[in-house]
Amino acid sequence: MIAIVGGGIAGACALHVLARAGFEVELYDDGDAVSGGASGVPVALLNPYRGKRALPSAEDLAGHERFLAALAELGAERAGWHAVGVLRIADSAERAAAWRELPGVRWIASEELTAVAALELRAPHGGFLFERGGFVETRALREALIAAARSRGAALRVGVRVHSLAYEADGVRLHTTQGERRARIAVSCTGAVSSPWAPRDDLRGVAGEVLCYSRAALGPAHVALAREPALVARCLLIRTPQEIHVGGAHGGDRAEAQDAAALLHAAGSALWPALAQLAPASSFRALRAATPSNQPRVRRVAERLWSVEGLAGRGYLRAFDLAEQLASALRRELGDRGRE
Ligand SMILES: Cc1cc2nc3c(=O)[nH]c(=O)nc-3n(C[C@H](O)[C@H](O)[C@H](O)COP(=O)(O)OP(=O)(O)OC[C@H]3O[C@@H](n4cnc5c(N)ncnc54)[C@H](O)[C@@H]3O)c2cc1C
Repeated sequence: MIAIVGGGIAGACALHVLARAGFEVELYDDGDAVSGGASGVPVALLNPYRGKRALPSAEDLAGHERFLAALAELGAERAGWHAVGVLRIADSAERAAAWRELPGVRWIASEELTAVAALELRAPHGGFLFERGGFVETRALREALIAAARSRGAALRVGVRVHSLAYEADGVRLHTTQGERRARIAVSCTGAVSSPWAPRDDLRGVAGEVLCYSRAALGPAHVALAREPALVARCLLIRTPQEIHVGGAHGGDRAEAQDAAALLHAAGSALWPALAQLAPASSFRALRAATPSNQPRVRRVAERLWSVEGLAGRGYLRAFDLAEQLASALRRELGDRGRE
C-alpha cells in the first residue's frame, strides 16, 4: 500500500493517478480533504503564460496539457472546468511591445479589449488572450479526483493527522491520530505545512489572498454575459456565474498584512472601475510553499518516503504532471510489487 499524506491538489492528483496506474493507495488528511490548505482557494487559473515576460516554460505548457487530458477523462463539467480563456493586460507600452511577439496567444489592441472581455476595462496598452486557458472550481475538481480514485479502490481517511513515521525493513509505519498504519511507501503532500518526518528546509511560505464579491450586486446586465475571459494584470480577476474573485500574491512574511485586502481591491478596481462600487462578501487567505527556484518538484526524501512539494502559485497548473512523475518513479522503484 502507498500512503499519501495531505489531500490538497497535490495529494488528490497523486491518489487519482496512482490508483489509475494500479497501485493500492490510501490518502490521509487532517481536514476533510476537499477544503484544507492552499488548495481550498475557491477558483484557480490555468495559465502557463506567467511572470512579467509571460514566456511559458516547457514544464508549465506540459502541465496545462496534462490538466486538459485529465479533464477529458474526468468530465470537464463535473470537474468544474471553465474554458473561458485567459486575458493578460499589459501594464506598460514596453510590456505590450514584448508580449506582441509571444507565440501561441492572440494579441488584442486596447480598443478591442472591452468587447473581448465584455467589461469596461482600463487597459490602454492592450493585452493577449490565451484561448486554451481558463479557470477551475477547485472543490469540484478535487471531489471528482477523489471519486475517480475511490471507484478504483483507493481509500480516503479524513480527519486523520499523521504525526510521525518510522522506517521498517520493508516499509514505513505511520503514527496517526487514529492509530498506526503500515505502508510500503509514504508520499508527503503536506503543502506549506512542514513535517519533522519530511524536512524541507529550503521551502518558504508565500501568502496569497482572494477576495470574493457577489455578482448579484452588479445587476443582470453583467450576469447575462456568456463567454468571459479570466483576467490577469497585477491581480487576477475571475468571474464565475455567481461571483467575482480578485486574487494576488503578497509574498513572504506579509501573510498577516492587514492592508492586503485593500491593496487587492484597489488593484482590481484600477483594472475594472466598476469593481470599486462593490465590497467583498468574503475572502480566502492561505500559505503556499515555494522552492528556491520557484519550480514545483517530486523528490525522494528517504528510502521509503517521497514528497510532492513547492507547488507555489502553480498548484493546479502542475499537479497532474507531478503526479505522473511520481507514478513513473514509483513504478521504477517498486515494479509490480507496489500493485500487489
Ligand atoms: C490565494 C491563492 C490563489 C492561488 N491561485 C492559483 C491559481 O490561480 N492557479 C494555480 O495553479 N494555483 C493557484 N494557487 C496555488 C495552489 O493553490 C497551491 O499551489 C496548491 O493548492 C498547493 O497544493 P498542495 O496540495 O501542495 O498543498 P495544500 O493545498 O496546502 O494541501 C496540503 C494538505 O495536507 C494536509 N496536511 C498537512 N500536514 C498533514 C499531516 N501531518 N497529516 C494529515 N494531513 C496533513 C493539510 O490539511 C492540507 O489539506 C493559489 C494559492 C493561493 C493561496
